[in-house]
Amino acid sequence: MNLPDQPPKQGARSLDPHLRRYAARTAGMTASEIRALFAVASRPEVVSLAGGMPHLAALPLDSLSAEVGDLIATEGLVALQYGSAHGVPELREQICEVMALEGIKAHPDDVVVTVGSQMGLDMVTRIFCDPGDVVLAEGPSYVGALGSFAAYQAQVVHVAMDADGLVPENLREAIAAVGRAGRRIKFLYTIPNFHNPAGVTLAVQRRAEVLEICRAHGILVVEDNPYGLLGFDGVTYPALRSTDPDNVVYLGSFSKTFAAGLRVGWVLAPHAVREKLVLAAESATLCPPTLNQMIVSRYLATQDWKGQIKTYREAYRERRDAAISALEQHMPLGSTWNKPSGGFYVWITVPEGIDTKAMLPRAVTQRVAYASGTGFYADGLGSRQLRISYCYPTPERIREGVRRLANVIKDEVEL
Ligand code: PMP
Repeated sequence: MNLPDQPPKQGARSLDPHLRRYAARTAGMTASEIRALFAVASRPEVVSLAGGMPHLAALPLDSLSAEVGDLIATEGLVALQYGSAHGVPELREQICEVMALEGIKAHPDDVVVTVGSQMGLDMVTRIFCDPGDVVLAEGPSYVGALGSFAAYQAQVVHVAMDADGLVPENLREAIAAVGRAGRRIKFLYTIPNFHNPAGVTLAVQRRAEVLEICRAHGILVVEDNPYGLLGFDGVTYPALRSTDPDNVVYLGSFSKTFAAGLRVGWVLAPHAVREKLVLAAESATLCPPTLNQMIVSRYLATQDWKGQIKTYREAYRERRDAAISALEQHMPLGSTWNKPSGGFYVWITVPEGIDTKAMLPRAVTQRVAYASGTGFYADGLGSRQLRISYCYPTPERIREGVRRLANVIKDEVEL
């Protein structure tokens, strides 16, 4: 498809002696700009507002380490053994309790534990998408999801959002346009709460309408919800899955509410889909790590996990406030941004004429990094946008980072 039928004569790619061996699907696999700048961007003098690394605020490390020690001492022969691809049964029950906070009533059998929700995205795409199938996704959308869709050669059609998230009318139009082109839509991929990267939340009154449109057109909904419990006003929105269990596949994660490094997430799927997911998981990893699942299970059983989520919310709200007040103080005229009510991200539009991808190396030289907008679109849009993540740096570093970023933008305006 996209592979050359002659070996390239020159250029960096010709240095790869394996070039002609790769599967066609690797053509869609590209490194993000920030990966390329990673070595420089991760120097301590650079304020990185680029990555979405969670801030592990106030995790009870002492009692956790005692629990993990006890777990290995008492249940080590299970914890260090292979398990089922479906996941540890006790954890699947606890996951149902977590999801109940968003109004979801689920049976533990319909939960499949994954290696982070990223693996859930990969598996869902693997079982549903043939090359050329269409996936609808908000524009912009989560870069890791776009990576999975590209890896399976699905084609993304973006649906524009406004301050209240996905716009139902735009969804209808996108469905009609894909239909006119004679293409097949496999699912709508949506991040309804505290969107990555746009920071917006799908208005509650729109949720039923989005579900209704998808149902009417026979389109499955894939709801990706890693930030749903991190609302700063204490509001937890009802999951899409809570009102349409048969047509929604829900992806969840402990990465943002507990510990990303354990890589434990899950998929909740209608019964038949769940069977296929278990088979897909088996062929990918045999089973998710038993020890990590049991650590999460112990944590939920013995620690104040709801209190911990509250601590995370407060830490992130303070960081959001630092980011927003610094933006208000320093950004030049012609820039706009949203004020997220949860999650990790602010989505910024810079003054006309600036290309945020071209600006990135100059920003890194000025000791600030961000994620440029084009990475969040499959169709080349986003050159005037960028995402900053306020989750990891301290509020003081965030303020300094935003000040530096604003100066870089002002320099660009004056160029
Ligand atoms: N979905 C979204 C929207 C995300 O922001 C992320 C992480 N940044 C993921 C999925 C993957 O999370 P994990 O694999 O750590 O559960």
